[in-house]
Amino acid sequence: MTTPRRWAVVGGGLVGAAIALRLQAAGFEVVLIDRGDARRGASFGNIGHIAAEQCEPMPSPATLKGAVGRLFGLGGPLDFRARDVALWGPWALRFLAASRPAAAAHGAEVLGRLLDDPLGAWTRLAALAQAPDDLIRSTGHAVVWSTPEAARKGLAAWRGARTGSATFRPMEADDLAAYDGVLARRPAGGIRFTGTGQVSEPQRVRDALLEAVVRRGGSMVHADVAAVRPVAGAVEVVLADGSVVDADRAVVAAGAWSARLMASLGVRVPLIGERGYSVQSAEHAWPEDLPLTVFEDRALAVARFKGGLRASSHVEFGDPSAAPDPRKWRHIETHLQTLGVAFSEAPDRWCGPRPTLADYLPAIGRLQAHPAIHYAFGHQHLGLTLAASTAELMEQMALGRPAPAWLDALRIERFR
Ligand SMILES: Cc1cc2nc3c(=O)[nH]c(=O)nc-3n(C[C@H](O)[C@H](O)[C@H](O)COP(=O)(O)OP(=O)(O)OC[C@H]3O[C@@H](n4cnc5c(N)ncnc54)[C@H](O)[C@@H]3O)c2cc1C
Repeated sequence: MTTPRRWAVVGGGLVGAAIALRLQAAGFEVVLIDRGDARRGASFGNIGHIAAEQCEPMPSPATLKGAVGRLFGLGGPLDFRARDVALWGPWALRFLAASRPAAAAHGAEVLGRLLDDPLGAWTRLAALAQAPDDLIRSTGHAVVWSTPEAARKGLAAWRGARTGSATFRPMEADDLAAYDGVLARRPAGGIRFTGTGQVSEPQRVRDALLEAVVRRGGSMVHADVAAVRPVAGAVEVVLADGSVVDADRAVVAAGAWSARLMASLGVRVPLIGERGYSVQSAEHAWPEDLPLTVFEDRALAVARFKGGLRASSHVEFGDPSAAPDPRKWRHIETHLQTLGVAFSEAPDRWCGPRPTLADYLPAIGRLQAHPAIHYAFGHQHLGLTLAASTAELMEQMALGRPAPAWLDALRIERFR
């Protein structure tokens, strides 16, 4: 065995960037390899919510029950690209299996562990990056509803849900009045969370992490990785031009594109691109102190970032690299108009894939067949929330420290 000094991290989204920084700071030599196209990954266009409250696993009997009413064809956010049925068909069968009550309870248990302290992990990582104070904000968020009926049902659902370390209270008239002048109509009801947060802008966070990696002596390679190969206890990362980056250890953290790299290792993973859409407007009238707001009955989230106001929605299953469907941007823009949110008529439109495994738990670990190769992908709707905690787990693994027993549930070999 070679001495595990040099690590190659494949993928420089929030997950890969966070891992690279933790490993570099722990004393390893790190080379991070990414295509260098920042807008391509989910880490660019997400809504920036540190979602400590999202402890309910997505595969569940309740999700299945509500799925039909959420279809895009019926005005909802959920869609399946017909031409990609060969991708999401087999994935959906595994999703159904993960939705059985016992499997859903297991998912909730593991997700609860992972979501133990995302804000704390981010605060520690931001300090390591020597990032500006406003990068991570523990300001909580709001969930609002547009009709009294939706508010009644929504509040009841949240009261019955696990929210981990996050807590909420019903919003009073004063809280809702904060939306006067921002929306055409005050929300009918809402809840205000504490213990959650938001970032100042997702790409700003990623840049801060990558800059810190380089400042600490790590290196970056902009290239398309074709394969990752185990060689005599070490690793070769093969680039698309045929050249090779040698390392003692590697981490596959390539988001929704990780399946292709795992396939090069003979490991098949049920990973899908769950594409989301967002629009951003530099001009807006969203006050600085108004929190990130989820308009739950519209499946729409709105957050004010440094660079403007962003709104995001949609869950579209398919090829992570497929061309966007412009109807989804128009759908979001129509919601914003109906709500009365001041927004550019020509916003910056973005689409990108959440990396989602069929049981909606990430894969974090080391390959049993090739222990020099590690992986961290499949963070679904929670990749920003969980990037810093994932990096702490990977650092523990790299240092050979004992891992918590529950981490076994995240091994990729669970999908045999
Ligand atoms: C609309 C939307 C809103 C969201 N909102 C939130 C939110 O509020 N909170 C939250 O926690 N999560 C949110 N998410 C989810 C979150 O954005 C993702 O889970 C997270 O960004 C995944 O990060 P990643 O680093 O694993 O993948 P990515 O961000 O996709 O990064 C993967 C990187 O690897 C590179 N790469 C891939 N293949 C190769 C290769 N072969 N060679 C070289 N480089 C390669 C890609 O180019 C990319 O840079 C949202 C997602 C979407 C789409």
